[in-house]
Amino acid sequence: MEKETCTFSFCKKPAIEEIETDLLLIGGGMACCGAAFEGARWANPKKIKITMVDKAATDRSGAVAMGLSAINTYMGENDPADYVKMVRNDLMGIVREDLIYDLGRHVDDSVQLFEEWGLPIWKVGDDGFSLDGFQAKEAGKAMLKDGGKPVRSGKWQIMINGESYKVIVAEAAKKALESNRAATGVSTNHYERVFIVKLYNDAKEPNRVAAAAGFSVRENKIYIFKAKAMVLAAGGAVNVFRPRSTQEGQGRAWYPVWNSGSGYALGLQAGAELTMMENRFVPARFKDGYGPVGACSCSSRPKRPTPSAKTIAPTRKPWRKPRRSTASTLTISAPPSATT
Ligand SMILES: Cc1cc2nc3c(=O)[nH]c(=O)nc-3n(C[C@H](O)[C@H](O)[C@H](O)COP(=O)(O)OP(=O)(O)OC[C@H]3O[C@@H](n4cnc5c(N)ncnc54)[C@H](O)[C@@H]3O)c2cc1C
Repeated sequence: MEKETCTFSFCKKPAIEEIETDLLLIGGGMACCGAAFEGARWANPKKIKITMVDKAATDRSGAVAMGLSAINTYMGENDPADYVKMVRNDLMGIVREDLIYDLGRHVDDSVQLFEEWGLPIWKVGDDGFSLDGFQAKEAGKAMLKDGGKPVRSGKWQIMINGESYKVIVAEAAKKALESNRAATGVSTNHYERVFIVKLYNDAKEPNRVAAAAGFSVRENKIYIFKAKAMVLAAGGAVNVFRPRSTQEGQGRAWYPVWNSGSGYALGLQAGAELTMMENRFVPARFKDGYGPVGACSCSSRPKRPTPSAKTIAPTRKPWRKPRRSTASTLTISAPPSATT
């Protein structure tokens, strides 16, 4: 008789399902959705099986779950080499310039795809004022790929109507996975609400990861995914640093708390080398605001607009010179709808 290992009398032994695939995508966020879309293009003709596993529902999972109001980087008329300079300066020189340059070279292709998939992108109107994504469509403004002029807030960022950003990107990924199922004859290749907890190295090739184990967060079920290659993109880590806030305030973070560090921990435990960990992104915190760096400017008195502020396309509400303040209290001013 099999030895009983479960000590909880109410806990039934979970069902175990084994899945064999070629490329396993761990996570269903922006990165893995992109990998599914791009991967299917290469994999389908060769009947390479792609499987995506997400601990949540991919339509609204990850950091973009509730949508964004901007895309942080769109090159447009800018030079990727300048982008490298900006990032190097911002992160005090501790950067992989090759990776940043590559991002700069390719990012526009992805942003243009988002627009093709239905993401409304703000455009500069004929009068120089901003049109939001829907107004721009109604006005027949050109798409980015056809030379449409996006509304910038700062040198690199462009504004979007991004409430459904993740749903739009997830839809493209799900369609790509569907096309991969059709090409490979596999019945299921998208697992939602399965939390991966461990990666297993190959017994014969210990520096190679061969499998991932996870559990369903809805059923009493364990999944073992055997794969030839994996993309691990399970998001960042929130609440790594203890905040100054106490009690209820301790749970607040600008980044979503469900980004719980699997992306780092799983790789580390399997022997991966983590790179560029010297720079941690720590959003600025003040009073009850938990905003990202750059979303607000703080000064002790109102200032005249700086030359860089002129690069922001004016909104329909023109900027008015603030009245000179005599008080030396902290003034926080956020640009109209920038978040990041
Ligand atoms: C409030 C906010 C505003 C932002 N604003 C902007 C902006 O305006 N412009 C911009 O460009 N960027 C912005 N960002 C940043 C952007 O959202 C992230 O850079 C991007 O989402 C990262 O993508 P990712 O795929 O690496 O991670 P995520 O999108 O976070 O995806 C992680 C995925 O992994 C899954 N997962 C995690 N652990 C496991 C596990 N153990 N097993 C299985 N699945 C797992 C999650 O469910 C999720 O699907 C913002 C982020 C936040 C939080």
